[in-house]
Amino acid sequence: MPDIFVVTGPSGVGKGTLIARLREGHPELALTISATTRSPRPGEVDGVSYYFLSDAEFDRRLAGGEFVEHATYAEHRYGTLRGELERRTRGGSPAVLEIEVQGARQVRDAIPSAVLVFIAPPSLEALRQRLVARGKDSPETIEQRLAVAVTELAARGEFQFEIVNDELERAVAELDALYVSERAR
Ligand code: 5GP
Repeated sequence: MPDIFVVTGPSGVGKGTLIARLREGHPELALTISATTRSPRPGEVDGVSYYFLSDAEFDRRLAGGEFVEHATYAEHRYGTLRGELERRTRGGSPAVLEIEVQGARQVRDAIPSAVLVFIAPPSLEALRQRLVARGKDSPETIEQRLAVAVTELAARGEFQFEIVNDELERAVAELDALYVSERAR
């Protein structure tokens, strides 16, 4: 089984930035591209940011047992395709999944060797400020994501590792150290 890393935590906490920084130093680490039924944001490209699927297509693949994990998040569906994970880990490459909490739990159950890391914001207010500052979502969407974040934060204790993303460089260094030590195990 290749090394599987799961980076989870609330929307806007900086999972994507942390993973991008980790991968700069570890080009062997593959990132799985998720499937989603939400619409692309400006600049997002199908097959790069996500595989953008219709609800019917998502259902068809779900019925076919094609997802390693999947979840409904803020009225849209997201999931990691088994074929995608297999493709990225072919040849034994390690892979990282950037997913929300419900999916992380499913990976934990399906792949007991997976290393799970919860990324926490310093506070809910800090998370709100980040979601506003990144300017990707409407005010309604931000409020919806913050409401979900409250339940996600309640689940933080379930995961093996936690990194508080209060200071980016320190958080990157922590994630890097964790990756290196888990790879060596
Ligand atoms: P966004 O709409 O901002 O791209 O993603 C919303 C949330 O869904 C984020 O927390 C993101 O990490 C999560 N997410 C993205 N892809 C997947 C996936 O394949 N599975 C699950 N469970 N969550 C995902």
